[in-house]
Amino acid sequence: MRAQVVIIGGGPSGLLLSQLLLRRGIDTVVLERKTRDYVLGRIRAGVLETGMVSLMRKAGIADRMDREGIIHESTVLSFDDQEFSINFTEHTGTHVMIYGQTEVTRDLYDAREAAGGRIIYNVENVVINDADTDKPFVTFDVGGATQQIDCDFVAGCDGFHGVSRRTIPHGVRREYEKVYPFGWLGILSETPPVNDELIYANSARGFALCSMRNANLSRYYVQCQLEDTPDDWSDQRFWDELRSRIPEKYADTLITGPSIEKSIAPLRSFVTEPMRWGRLFLCGDAAHIVPPTGAKGLNTAASDVHYLYHGLMQYYEEADPEGIDRYSERALARVWKAERFSWWMTTLLHRFPDQTAFDLKIQRADLEFLRANREAQSVLAQNYVGLPY
Ligand SMILES: Cc1cc2nc3c(=O)[nH]c(=O)nc-3n(C[C@H](O)[C@H](O)[C@H](O)COP(=O)(O)OP(=O)(O)OC[C@H]3O[C@@H](n4cnc5c(N)ncnc54)[C@H](O)[C@@H]3O)c2cc1C
Repeated sequence: MRAQVVIIGGGPSGLLLSQLLLRRGIDTVVLERKTRDYVLGRIRAGVLETGMVSLMRKAGIADRMDREGIIHESTVLSFDDQEFSINFTEHTGTHVMIYGQTEVTRDLYDAREAAGGRIIYNVENVVINDADTDKPFVTFDVGGATQQIDCDFVAGCDGFHGVSRRTIPHGVRREYEKVYPFGWLGILSETPPVNDELIYANSARGFALCSMRNANLSRYYVQCQLEDTPDDWSDQRFWDELRSRIPEKYADTLITGPSIEKSIAPLRSFVTEPMRWGRLFLCGDAAHIVPPTGAKGLNTAASDVHYLYHGLMQYYEEADPEGIDRYSERALARVWKAERFSWWMTTLLHRFPDQTAFDLKIQRADLEFLRANREAQSVLAQNYVGLPY
């Protein structure tokens, strides 16, 4: 087999990149370790930045998002029983879109399949060969046979545990990491959201987030211990804990129901540099992870896709390598700002096991400043809706 670009990973980064390239006549093959249903079963991000929304439109897959997505012009932050709202539109002229990662991925799979794009599922033992030469190739096993695809470029969109990042030699790769001493327990329930806006809650019992997917599907999270498992958390225990962490007016009106999904995610900040090695480019979670507090994971993956897509277009349509040569530098400049914002939101809103009385006072002062200061709110709003590409 041959393709201009082999894309490893059929998550949102890989699918979006392949769909954008397909529309410019650039031929790709996507290699996915799992099945389509498995990928669609992963409940993850739900807040789309303006840039991600524009990319979905550019990729020709925005019809359902534009019909069913919910525009959010503001968000609520609370501490103890106090709350304030930050209006994104007032500060930035734009907003975010509530539309689940599962739906984004479903739309991308449907579009790829309708256009006859090549996706190979259930691949194993993917190896990226000769990425530091002009003739890279990828080998993998599928259905008991080994296959090879020759290509011009490889896009490593295979998430944090994939092979792409590890293909870059140790001597070239630099990694930066911060692991947080807690996780997020998330549940999905077929109940109306407690509020029209998201609620980010800092409480003495720890962080909570009230989020949503649609008018009858809510996504709620509470900060939990790293060693907890979903079995430790009955639905009743979850709802009681959530109620204790949000302002009384929301706790009193919260509608509860059985969870239809319950999972725990550890929180981590991670960046690898560079994001390019020869003809291999890393995209999305393969190169960086953020704690989900700022809703930046999927959105930062999308900004990588934007830079790589433009670089590849410039290469194929204008025979100009400038865009691919500067891919790593451009992507990382934005990645680090998303890392900073996600780290700051996490620090502002969570309880840390080693927090002293002094640390708590500083956190409180930070929240009070944010509540009272228009410029501070504007900084949060700019970062939340997404910095420009
Ligand atoms: C539990 C959880 C909750 C999250 N919540 C949020 C949130 O609220 N907001 C937010 O913005 N972000 C959130 N994120 C982050 C967001 O989901 C990711 O940033 C996003 O999925 C990145 O997309 P990706 O395509 O780069 O990677 P992934 O979605 O990880 O996709 C990578 C794909 O590559 C495949 N793959 C892996 N290894 C191989 C291999 N060797 N060969 C072939 N295929 C391979 C995987 O099966 C997968 O389908 C969350 C993440 C998790 C884990």
